[in-house]
Amino acid sequence: MAMTIREVNKKPAPYKLASRANHLEPTIVTVAQHKIGDGSVTVMAGPCSVESRDQIIEIARQLKDAGAHLLRGGAFKPRSSPYSFQGLGETGLKFLAEAREVTGLPVVSEVMEIEHLPMACEYIDMVQIGARNMQNYPLLKAVGRTTKPVLLKRGLSATIEEWLMSAEYILSEGNPNVVLCERGIRTFETATRNTLDLNAVPVVKHLSHLPIIVDPSHGTGVARYVTAMSMAAVACGADGLILEAHNTPESALSDGDQSITPGEFESLMRHINVLEESCAQLREGVLNG
Ligand code: PEP
Ligand code: MN
Repeated sequence: MAMTIREVNKKPAPYKLASRANHLEPTIVTVAQHKIGDGSVTVMAGPCSVESRDQIIEIARQLKDAGAHLLRGGAFKPRSSPYSFQGLGETGLKFLAEAREVTGLPVVSEVMEIEHLPMACEYIDMVQIGARNMQNYPLLKAVGRTTKPVLLKRGLSATIEEWLMSAEYILSEGNPNVVLCERGIRTFETATRNTLDLNAVPVVKHLSHLPIIVDPSHGTGVARYVTAMSMAAVACGADGLILEAHNTPESALSDGDQSITPGEFESLMRHINVLEESCAQLREGVLNG
């Protein structure tokens, strides 16, 4: 059922630009030619880290053939340990751009430092702000001063309001191209890496006009749970998914445990396509609040 202005205005939000109260129409963010938030399910997929030129080009081809719309791959990695693989840096972004040349898939990658932003924008189509940087306000302002689409991940312990306030930082600098990403939050549960808060999907749809996608890879931390939670995300109205995929997850340089293989990705896409068709009306209801 569509919302009325009176309904959304019940509680004035501190995030004026991100709020649905002042912007009833859902925002569509265009990355290269691809539209996110137009009612369809956008699927971004790729390895946690770009590891080599061959690795990223090979998997990009496979993911594209299986129906991915965007290619992901980290070149600047926010690792818990300074001794873990930190990413290939600019070289990784070059490989990612090559994979785009080969497949035509637009690319998304994380930027952690303001100084890297102009260089990274030369190679990538969408800038990812990682969970650990959701409250890095200078970085948010810096991406807000660009026109690049931004994928803003939810902080590990951030409330939905704090997350929308972070989106507000980007919007208030003049960049309207923000896509939110639910990637799981810290809870007492240890069976999974994080607790994927799918409540965030209908809540964000109610409170904001911005598109929201879901990351079941970081949300669960376990490859075997990724398909189930991808389906749940689509059923509850998410505008898309971002998935980690690797040809040999057991030897991945980061996040192998939660990475699915291209074969598993292909079967996941078949499930998603069936689901997307069968629950189109339900999804539209969520989209319209
Ligand atoms: C990632 O996408 O590989 C990543 C580090 O994600 P997050 O910031 O959500 O942990
Ligand atoms: Mn990862």
